[in-house]
Amino acid sequence: MSSDQLNSLIETNNPRRVVLKISGECFCPPKERGISMESVAHLANQVAVVARKGVQIAIVMGGGNILRGGQFKAANIGIQESTAHYMGMLATVINGLALQDAIESVGQPTRLMSAFSMDVVAETYIRRRAMRHLEKGRIILLAGGTGSPFVTTDTAAAQRALELSADVLLKATKVDGVYSDDPEKVPNATFYPEIPYGDILKQNLRIMDKESIAKCAEHNMPIMIFNFRREGNLERALMGERVGTIIS
Ligand code: UDP
Repeated sequence: MSSDQLNSLIETNNPRRVVLKISGECFCPPKERGISMESVAHLANQVAVVARKGVQIAIVMGGGNILRGGQFKAANIGIQESTAHYMGMLATVINGLALQDAIESVGQPTRLMSAFSMDVVAETYIRRRAMRHLEKGRIILLAGGTGSPFVTTDTAAAQRALELSADVLLKATKVDGVYSDDPEKVPNATFYPEIPYGDILKQNLRIMDKESIAKCAEHNMPIMIFNFRREGNLERALMGERVGTIIS
C-alpha cells in the first residue's frame, strides 16, 4: 500500500472525526496507579487544543490504573470474574469524571456518556446523541466500555469507532507502536511503521485485544498506535499526522 493510500485511510471525513482510546496508564505517572490530576490535566490540555481546531473527538477511557477485571482471576478471593469486570468498567467512569472536569477547566465543552445507565453522573450512550455532541464541537468521553464483562476497552473503542464512522481509531499507549516483540523485554525487537491486521493476529502481537483488531479488520477501520508519553505525539496523532504504527 502506498503512503498516499495510507494517509487517505486515516483522513477521509471533513471535519475530521477520531476515536481516541486512552489506557488507564495515561491517568498517572509511569509505574504508578490511581489518578494523578497533573497527568489528567496534561492530557486534557492536549486534547482541548486539537478540539479547538475543529477536530471531532470521542475518547474511550480505560481503567487499568484503578483495576482490571482479569487481575482477580487467579486470586480466588471470592469475587466472581464477571463482578470484577463490572468493577473495571466502573473504574473507567471514575477516569471519565476526572478527565471531564480537566477538559472543561480549560474551556472545552464535553459530555460524559456511559455504556450503562448512571444518570446521576453521565448520560447513557446513544449513538445518535453522541453524533450530535460531536457535530456541536463537544468532546465526548465514552465510559463503561461496552457495558458487558469479559472484554476490554479496546473492543469498546473499536465498536465506537465503527458506529461513529470515525476516520481512524487512535490508541495512546506507552510504547512507540507495534514491535515484533515486547520492546521493554527484547531491546532489539523490530519496529513496524505499518502492519496488516492479519499479521498482528497471526504473530499474536499483544498490542490490542484480538476482538478489537478483528472488528476493525472486518470493517476496514485503520488503527494508529502511538506513544502518548512523547511530547507532541498526542496532538500530532489527533491532527492526522502519522506517528507510531498504522494497522490497516
Ligand atoms: N471491562 C469490561 N468490559 C468492557 C470494558 C472493560 O469488562 O467492555 C473491564 C475489564 O475488566 C477491563 C477493565 O474494565 O480489564 C478496565 O478496562 P481496560 O483493561 O481496557 O483498561 P486499560 O487497560 O485500557 O487501562
